[in-house]
Amino acid sequence: MKKLAEVLKDWEAVIGLEVHTELTTLETKMFCNCRLSHDDEPNTNVCPVCLGMPGALPVPNEKAIESIVMAGLATNCQIQRHSMFYRKHYFYPDMAKNFQTTQGPVAFCMHGQLDLEVSGAGAKERPDSTVEKDADGGYVAPIRILRIHMEEDAAKMVHVGGEEGRIGGAAESLIDYNRCGTPLIELVTEPDLRTPEEARLFMEKLRQTFLTLGISDCSLESGSMRCDGNISLRRRGETKFGTKTEMKNINSFKSLHDALEYEICRQAEVLEEGGIVYQETRHWEPSRRRTVVMRVKETADDYRLFPDPDLAPFDLTDEFVERCRARIPELPDAKRDRYMASFGLKRADAAQLAGDPKVAAFFEEALEGAGEKVVPTLANVMVNLAPSYDALTVAQVRGISALLAEDAITFAQAREVLDAVNGTEEDPAAYVDAHGMRQSTDEGALGAIVDEVLARCTDQVQQYRDGNKKVLGFLVGQCMKAAKGSGNPKAFNKMLAERLEA
Ligand code: ADP
Ligand code: MG
Ligand code: ZN
Repeated sequence: MKKLAEVLKDWEAVIGLEVHTELTTLETKMFCNCRLSHDDEPNTNVCPVCLGMPGALPVPNEKAIESIVMAGLATNCQIQRHSMFYRKHYFYPDMAKNFQTTQGPVAFCMHGQLDLEVSGAGAKERPDSTVEKDADGGYVAPIRILRIHMEEDAAKMVHVGGEEGRIGGAAESLIDYNRCGTPLIELVTEPDLRTPEEARLFMEKLRQTFLTLGISDCSLESGSMRCDGNISLRRRGETKFGTKTEMKNINSFKSLHDALEYEICRQAEVLEEGGIVYQETRHWEPSRRRTVVMRVKETADDYRLFPDPDLAPFDLTDEFVERCRARIPELPDAKRDRYMASFGLKRADAAQLAGDPKVAAFFEEALEGAGEKVVPTLANVMVNLAPSYDALTVAQVRGISALLAEDAITFAQAREVLDAVNGTEEDPAAYVDAHGMRQSTDEGALGAIVDEVLARCTDQVQQYRDGNKKVLGFLVGQCMKAAKGSGNPKAFNKMLAERLEA
């Protein structure tokens, strides 16, 4: 198969995502008062409503409606004041009442948009000129959202024995209704995405947004956030869409990117050989890095969709919508801009810190009392160093940043200190002192060493003055050696340069 870059020169990829998010932070299910928890003993959080007993009446969870309205507002959707629930019929044991309660043509949230900032290596995936690229090749891709609707999750089934993963081949099927009736929101994008990287970024941005709203734990790994990727190809310049395939079983950002990349290359090969792409559902196999056919879509499914007579239509008031709007915290883009404006952080660093609400809260707590001089170092530590340590305290991150900011230790030493204090309560400064690691920045003491080295290395000094600035590194090394490692290389660097330029 051809490589992605090769394929995308001749073909344009058209991608649309369908993203399901369980509202895991709520306490109760969508239409009953059962506890929302998937970790409990199977089939303990159940009642006549979520078990589909005849005559049981559903009552909508107001908090779930608040959550979806917040999601809609945060993704620039129009909140539909009038909408209702429908019944979508199918037969399968994971939904005992034989229909899923979902929304019809009008969802709570319609016609939104998220703008993606694509930069770096990922931006190169898009070779065409239909977007305006900046000097570094980055661009902004506006992605329209068709709708976000409210529905309920089905029970969890496990097929055991026999042939693994094949329902027909399993010896036994187990079912846990604890998950049945979990509030679920489904977001459907317009087919506006053009590269696997854009799809990955969209999913990441959506996850950051929902995490910040606090409406879900958004775990792709455990399945509380799931995504199907729809993909088709068309020749560059063509305006009509090609036939799409739909990819399931995507449980990481990497899988989403890689599955789409594979599928683009596969479809290109089929089309270039004169074949046709069938409209089918395919399954991504991460271990074998390929997609395989799950089922072919023959005719439209007959769900007999009709308004649920047990659930009254909704007429959301302005007051309700405004109450939801008031509950939306500062979103990642706004936070990023604030970090850039207030602390002079680089855009990418600010975006990384602002993206995850836990990281942002940690950063902001660490900032308190850190002093203006320490802020850039603190951001640097949070972006480049802290991610590899899971058990650092706010005080430790602040402490290590202060040591770096005053040049008391090098970046390499900071790593060593963090290795040692991670998971303990130990103060980095105390550790540095106890292990004699503190470097001198004392002008007098270091100045004497610098003068001695300059007097000794006359050849290198001449080379520097003749324009070979690289010898500065050698001279810093000589100073470090003379100071037996206790001098700060940055301070030496600065003092040497000053004296040589004088
Ligand atoms: P289906 O009826 O097969 O579920 P939908 O029209 O509901 O298809 O669209 C599902 C998703 O597929 C949406 O995200 C949409 O943007 C995307 N999509 C629709 N047509 C195409 C296409 N030709 N190529 C790629 N994606 C598409
Ligand atoms: Mg669909
Ligand atoms: Zn229940």
